[in-house]
Amino acid sequence: MENDKKHDILRRFPSVQSILQNNETLKLSKKFPDEFVKEKLNNLIKSEKDKILGLLKQDDKSELSDNFNFSAEYFAEKLKEDLNNFSFSLKKVVNGTGVVVHTNLGRSILPESAVKNVSKISSSYSNLEFNLAEGKRGKRYFHAEYLLKKILKCERAIVVNNNAAAVFMALSSFCSGQKKEVIISRGELIEIGGSFRIPDIMKASGASLVEVGTTNKTNIRDYESAINENTALLLKVHKSNFRMSGFTSELSGKDISLIGAKHKIPVMEDLGSGSFIDLSRFGLPYEPTAQEVVSAGIDVVTFSGDKLLGGPQAGIIAGKEKYIDMVASNPLNRAFRIDKMTLASLEAVLFEYLDIEKAVKNIPTLFFIALTGKDILKKAKRLLNKIKKSKAADKNLFDFKIVRDASIIGGGALPDYELETYAIKIAHKTISADKLGKIFRSLKIPVIGKIKNGEFMLDMRTVSDLDCNDILDALSIISG
Ligand SMILES: *Cc1c(COP(=O)(O)O)cnc(C)c1O
Repeated sequence: MENDKKHDILRRFPSVQSILQNNETLKLSKKFPDEFVKEKLNNLIKSEKDKILGLLKQDDKSELSDNFNFSAEYFAEKLKEDLNNFSFSLKKVVNGTGVVVHTNLGRSILPESAVKNVSKISSSYSNLEFNLAEGKRGKRYFHAEYLLKKILKCERAIVVNNNAAAVFMALSSFCSGQKKEVIISRGELIEIGGSFRIPDIMKASGASLVEVGTTNKTNIRDYESAINENTALLLKVHKSNFRMSGFTSELSGKDISLIGAKHKIPVMEDLGSGSFIDLSRFGLPYEPTAQEVVSAGIDVVTFSGDKLLGGPQAGIIAGKEKYIDMVASNPLNRAFRIDKMTLASLEAVLFEYLDIEKAVKNIPTLFFIALTGKDILKKAKRLLNKIKKSKAADKNLFDFKIVRDASIIGGGALPDYELETYAIKIAHKTISADKLGKIFRSLKIPVIGKIKNGEFMLDMRTVSDLDCNDILDALSIISG
């Protein structure tokens, strides 16, 4: 009896072919790969079948009415819904964490000029490695180097895939082959996360690590007494994600460059974030800018393109011609080279820096850092008003409150420095903060918040006005 019923029901399902021939489905097939549409449809049919068979197994068969819709149109409509919700694996998210340079969320947002240039350059042929004046092979890195030389007042610069590659390649260029030694302070043997540890990267590059000083103190004598005929480089590394306080002292880049000059040994500084502007203009603690490090006499500086610079993922290596030439001729330069999209965006971002005042407005990373508590409070109020007016959120379910909070820059820049911010706390009558966070993350445009003291909130520092519409959509979807 039960088997008969089962067969009867399964027989009533429309054929896959009839659903694929449906007009709505045919329209979808133009937009999506055929195999993908078929796979989605098969999954859909299977889940409907499972649902019905599940009901058949229950003792109470009241839900198993004969009203199940088995038309091809019904499945075509379901398929359309499914495919309209499609997004690529790598997708836009709303950053409600307040962390401006969030490595997991893609670090820096590019300025509009860079986005436009990437689109233009990547959709056509370009003079990537072609010298237009002479009609022959040209230099890929020229497109970024001329601006880096202008901004940093350095003799030469090259760009590679990221700063980790920059450090690795530079070390390998100075230390390849022989047992060459690199001197570094014990206070700078850091791990910056993502398993990038300075001692490991040095070992992998072929350099022999010579640690000097102590964790909290390193002085001139420490460096000088370690120098011998095998010394290839003096290395200074920005401590990035931690800070030491108390009984500490370290040498400035300038001090180390004087030691290097005296002993004719190159000095390299890994700046990590490497800012082109003095952040103290935003009321943040002073940190030497990349320009200042170059002018202090450091031979080679390396820094990231997508941290405080606010550009694409890249590692910039700049400094004295003699040393950058050595790095540029390393075969690894070919392995770590950047593509035209990175160059297109980097050139546009660097161009913004020719006018610092404009750069601060146009480069999102700088713009977000520069926002004051007052600016952010205004933004939070604007969004809350929109939420109230739009009726996106069910008032009986949600409760909103603007709260004062602290956000950090991220990307290893000023790790212990908290910026005043405002967040919108979102509470739901029946859903816990954790669960709410999970639901927000599961949407077509995921909204990533932060949870503090068991409460879910969106830090408005990193939420743009455009993101606000996505948040409204999210609230209305969750409200059902
Ligand atoms: C971030 C950082 C790096 C690595 O840079 P990526 O661009 O992420 O490869 C290296 N050194 C320091 C000091 C850093 O802060």
